[in-house]
Amino acid sequence: MHHFHYRAGELHAEDVPVRILAERYGTPLYVYSYQTLRRHFQAYETAFDGYPHVTCFAVKANSNSAILRLFAKMGGGADIVSGGELFVALKAGIPSQKIVYAGVGKTDDEIAFALRSKILMFNVESENELREIDKVARRMQTKAPIALRINPDIDPGTHPYITTGMKKHKFGIPIEMALEYYRLAAKLGNVFVVGVHTHIGSQITTVSPFVDALERVLRLIDDLAARGVSLRYLDVGGGLGITYQNEVPPDPQDLAKGLMPLLKGRNLTLITEPGRSIVGNAGILVTRSLYIKKGVDKKFLIVDAGMNDLIRPSLYDAYHNIFPVVKRKRKKAVYDVVGPICESGDFLARGREMPIVRQGEYLAVMSAGAYGFSMSSNYNSRPRAAEVLVKGEKHFLIRERETYDDLVRYDRIPPFLR
Ligand SMILES: *Cc1c(COP(=O)(O)O)cnc(C)c1O
Repeated sequence: MHHFHYRAGELHAEDVPVRILAERYGTPLYVYSYQTLRRHFQAYETAFDGYPHVTCFAVKANSNSAILRLFAKMGGGADIVSGGELFVALKAGIPSQKIVYAGVGKTDDEIAFALRSKILMFNVESENELREIDKVARRMQTKAPIALRINPDIDPGTHPYITTGMKKHKFGIPIEMALEYYRLAAKLGNVFVVGVHTHIGSQITTVSPFVDALERVLRLIDDLAARGVSLRYLDVGGGLGITYQNEVPPDPQDLAKGLMPLLKGRNLTLITEPGRSIVGNAGILVTRSLYIKKGVDKKFLIVDAGMNDLIRPSLYDAYHNIFPVVKRKRKKAVYDVVGPICESGDFLARGREMPIVRQGEYLAVMSAGAYGFSMSSNYNSRPRAAEVLVKGEKHFLIRERETYDDLVRYDRIPPFLR
């Protein structure tokens, strides 16, 4: 469900024609729908209503401050994977006591920052990290709340690049070794065990892998309880999929229906870490067609958004619908939709049948709200796109378009070259 629809042949973001936004703010342009963001966040709150829970939005999916502020106002927390994300989340007003911190490569500085900020817990990914957090906490004369990120060895049936919970992955602690690591944590003087964490992958389109993972983790929780270790937080991660093309993913209600029966009677606080399923379909990338180029045996539609703006097609071979912003009666053609970047891998779609596109018209790349802007770069010295939030008939610039000056802002010419 989202609020991008055609009205009288024009694609609207809520009540605003996307064409108006493109003319006003330029392209490439990320456009988000406030109502959609709200609805998707609220879906998690409603699904787990009645059970103690915190919805910790995965900041890496979209780290715009205005969007984080919205979730903060709705009672949301944050799942972070770096000191930078901690900074952004705190600035946006997310309470530190609702922030959980995962990631395999936390540095001492990042650990100290999180300890000073008094986050809810560290989701620890290895033995050496556990020892390092203990060391930093000792230096700071404090104690670090920790959960172990357990790798339950579940194949969620998604793209290999976004599968994270199998033995071959760098993430988490193999479930066979979990008891040993919890024993170690109990021995360390400056960490205290508060929870357990899993995150098995992303763009998962069935509930069963979540249920399988939870069953394994609950067995671990029971084993720990038998050894006198009681946990307060159960963090089941994120990973629910969205519709890009014709997937029919479960919604948070379906997820809750799968998980809640297993949690009945347990005295735990449930943490979820949704990213894509909240913001993915709440954003589009608006681009303008620059040239239609006839190749020997294919047609290239060259647009002004490239892999530096949206890398998902290049990186994951991801599918995004691409629609003309203004509908017209026209024939169809097959295009490779490509960007201006000097890489053969710079494409938004390949072999795509779509209405014949005119030079200069606007197109909407759908479902671009997650891992879109947050993965964008300045490659080919391209200033990053602007971001706009639409609320009803109103629209707000929530990130300015970068300028050419921004491209050289941090460069320094050494004296011998002056
Ligand atoms: C990326 C990530 C998420 C969010 O995943 P989505 O598929 O966007 O819901 C949650 N938790 C952790 C630890 C992650 O790395």
